[in-house]
Amino acid sequence: MQKIVLASNNKGKLAEFQQLFQPLGFELVPQGALGVGECEEPYFTFLENALAKARFASQATGLPAIADDSGLVVPALNGEPGVLSARYAVTKGGEKSDAANNAYLLKALENVNDRKGYYVACLVFVRSADDPCPIVAQCFWAGEIAKEAAGKNGFGYDPYFYLPDIGKTAAELSPEEKNKVSHRGQALRKLLVEIQAYL
Ligand code: IMP
Repeated sequence: MQKIVLASNNKGKLAEFQQLFQPLGFELVPQGALGVGECEEPYFTFLENALAKARFASQATGLPAIADDSGLVVPALNGEPGVLSARYAVTKGGEKSDAANNAYLLKALENVNDRKGYYVACLVFVRSADDPCPIVAQCFWAGEIAKEAAGKNGFGYDPYFYLPDIGKTAAELSPEEKNKVSHRGQALRKLLVEIQAYL
């Protein structure tokens, strides 16, 4: 079975990836299981960060690698949390946790009427660290930031990410329902078509 290293140790991401990868017969191994530490994410775009993470994981393991750089963009907050979504609270002086990130997000939106936001997932696949033709798929998922949390599934900002069309937050969707419509699910399906042609 073809092994691919996932350039992330985020359990939420891993679960969503595995659901779509397993039926295809690829073995997806998180980089932490291979002793690979975290890569720096110094860039301003999801694409550049994802590419850096994919190359780093492939370099460290000698395996093809897939990376996901993702986040929540809120236009009324000038794009924050954006590429800093995982560390949003830290950038404001808080701790690194989903709860703290959500608390800071709600605070930032306290007096803001426009609560629209969208998730972005930029996925990059490289066959090797120096692959000259990385495969890239970037997709979006639009919603609104709710004032109160609802739901226990998903991770990160999901309990506050409200989908007006569905009438639920992302955390109220089952993993299968979320993957059908989410930024990551859409991007992964695009990427998989290309990866299958490559490997
Ligand atoms: P990364 O590991 O630097 O790509 O950070 C991704 C961060 O964006 C996560 O830690 C979450 O805070 C947020 N995020 C990305 N995708 C999702 C999602 O599907 N649900 C909830 N939060 C997400």
